[in-house]
Amino acid sequence: MKKNAIYLFANWKMYLDYDESNILANALASEAKNFDKRIKMAIFPSALSFYPVAQVFRDVGIGIGAQNVYWVDKGGYTGEVSANMYKEAGCEYALVGHSERRHLFGESLEETEKKFEAVLAAGLTPVLCVGETSAEKKNGITERVVKNQLESALKKISWPKGKEIIIAYEPVWAIGTGDACDPEEAQKIQEIIKETVKKTVPKAGYVAALYGGSVDGKNIGAFLAKSAIDGVLVGGASAKLKSWLEIIKESVKK
Ligand code: PEP
Repeated sequence: MKKNAIYLFANWKMYLDYDESNILANALASEAKNFDKRIKMAIFPSALSFYPVAQVFRDVGIGIGAQNVYWVDKGGYTGEVSANMYKEAGCEYALVGHSERRHLFGESLEETEKKFEAVLAAGLTPVLCVGETSAEKKNGITERVVKNQLESALKKISWPKGKEIIIAYEPVWAIGTGDACDPEEAQKIQEIIKETVKKTVPKAGYVAALYGGSVDGKNIGAFLAKSAIDGVLVGGASAKLKSWLEIIKESVKK
């Protein structure tokens, strides 16, 4: 069945410097009028490039998000940028709990929860990232890990009635490795995610479930063919014009 909306979210991580970010943003903006109307695209540039890229996307129907935020509004927090500051700069979304934050920078479940709350309080839409490591997968505890990550971020939240929730299932072992998850396996986890979110946040509106981890133009069709997968969060292949345009083209074939 054709999807009404296809989420194509691009995490540029720290792949692009200031000039490269602006060049890619302008190239995408000039293609935007050709994108299928079902595509909901959002780009997550580096903090340095955020503002100019947000200006480029302002009137072309491409959304913009922060890769990471701090939960305090203002103060002596060297190197951090708050959710409110992003909001003022035109931000709409923020990634929360990306596996690189959790595993490379040691972000705890409590810190992820604080960021999630701050993002929501600032009026941004959080994109909560969850996923198991390869050791957790081998130990057969994927479901437990994912449920714990979801519940710890969502349980105390006062969610606006009917507001959509976006969750990205990104198995840690699939990120940047070229070893994407089996789409059938991703579908099963997404079903568990949707069920857990509905139980934890009964007031929530639609639960949009994205898959992330080594998505490219060749495998995106197999993920989007799954009923529980509403879109993708892409790292490496989103930071180059050719591979991102291929993903865009392939995404609307399903
Ligand atoms: C990511 O970091 O969110 C991601 C999915 O990366 P990649 O597409 O490079 O695996």
